[in-house]
Amino acid sequence: MVAPVLRLYNTLTRSREEFRPIDPDLVRMYVCGPTVYDYAHIGNARPVIVFDLLYRLLRQIYCTGHVKYVRNITDVDDKINARAAERGIDIRALTEQTNAIFQSDVAALNCLPPDVQPRATEHIAQMIEIIQSLIAQNHAYAADGHVLFSVPSMAEYGRLSRRPLDEMIAGARVDVAPYKQGDMDFVLWKPSAAQEPGWESPWGRGRPGWHIECSAMSWKHLGETFDIHGGGIDLVFPHHENEIAQSRCAFGHEVMANVWMHNGFLQVEGEKMSKSLGNFITIHDLLQSDTFGGRRWPGAVLRLAMLRTHYRQPIDWTLKGLEEAEANLRNWHEAEVVSAPEGAEIPAQILAALCEDLNTPEAISLIHALRKAGKARELKSVLMLMGLYAPDIFAKAGAGGAELSAEERSQIEAVIAQRLAARAAKNFAESDRLRDHLLAKGIVLKDNKDGTTTWEHKG
Ligand code: AMP
Ligand code: ZN
Repeated sequence: MVAPVLRLYNTLTRSREEFRPIDPDLVRMYVCGPTVYDYAHIGNARPVIVFDLLYRLLRQIYCTGHVKYVRNITDVDDKINARAAERGIDIRALTEQTNAIFQSDVAALNCLPPDVQPRATEHIAQMIEIIQSLIAQNHAYAADGHVLFSVPSMAEYGRLSRRPLDEMIAGARVDVAPYKQGDMDFVLWKPSAAQEPGWESPWGRGRPGWHIECSAMSWKHLGETFDIHGGGIDLVFPHHENEIAQSRCAFGHEVMANVWMHNGFLQVEGEKMSKSLGNFITIHDLLQSDTFGGRRWPGAVLRLAMLRTHYRQPIDWTLKGLEEAEANLRNWHEAEVVSAPEGAEIPAQILAALCEDLNTPEAISLIHALRKAGKARELKSVLMLMGLYAPDIFAKAGAGGAELSAEERSQIEAVIAQRLAARAAKNFAESDRLRDHLLAKGIVLKDNKDGTTTWEHKG
């Protein structure tokens, strides 16, 4: 197969560019992960699904084992401290619990585990090292137990977000602090009170600012410069602008990452999602409860509903969209597809659509065409590539297999997702327990090479 040309929209240049990896033997991608203090909402699922699709596509083009995907876990943050105090539990207990839920939620969305999921609290030494280097190069200064990045010290600050300087300064004035030399200077390190989590540092006991966490984790796992950095559009400023300032000034490179990719925002039935509007939906609720549309939704339906819209466009999350996605999946999982052998080549047109800045709407319309043309083997390959293959939910039970209700199927899927999370956490005792639990009900699991698990009902 001739490798297709991959083109990606780069926020840094505001244009679609041909992707050329620094090292084609190891394509390196970093995506900002969740702050683990509460259930992830369906907006948070968007970057997870979008960059999982890109990861799968990169593995298709450059081969599995030649792509390194890092998605961090932010487990030190003032929101975490506040929530742990509110619930009267230990911070570590809160972050462990929340992370376990996140892992099982995104496994149910058919997202592959990234190659590395670094935790901020395990990279404090790297953060201190970067901060020391910034101070030594006059890009940062210590004051009152804080360390701040000196924004005026970096000529190219603002290149990613292209915000007018006066707008940035006005925004920064909201939080005037006596220890700041410049209005826009931002925190790299801050002091911790006795009851707050803290680490010893050259500036006293304290904790890192949010931005430095990603500079440290991407450096440790991907190096001083790497290929792709992703996240939601809201992260462009200040988070990504500040990551760039820290990493470029510390390491002295022209770029931190070559390509900066951002997904558009998600709203619900035409409105901004918020707790006060009562339209706040978590991934967990969609999978496990009947709060949206009075029923549970299989992970593959949520995934397809997300991919129907191009990742850079805003997406409107609607009941109608979920119902259509479900009908499509049912239609695509016909018996010939499920029984077709694996390994057919991905049709060139579909690969080309995905390679054109992840044009999923186009890919989906081509999938409809494959279905119409009766190309079962190709259809199966495409569904597997895109993480949309879910025969256990959509295929009609084969001869001899007892019929299971949609409810039963989605319960089985939920247990499988829990087991994948247990395995990702290397908790093999729990993973075996869940396997046996299903076996007792006649459900036989098969672990696939791509990290997914499928099942069969032996009746
Ligand atoms: P946060 O936990 O708020 O830092 O968000 C985690 C990720 O979810 C980031 O990449 C955000 O940009 C993204 N995100 C948060 N809210 C939404 C939304 N409504 N739509 C799309 N992406 C979102
Ligand atoms: Zn980040």
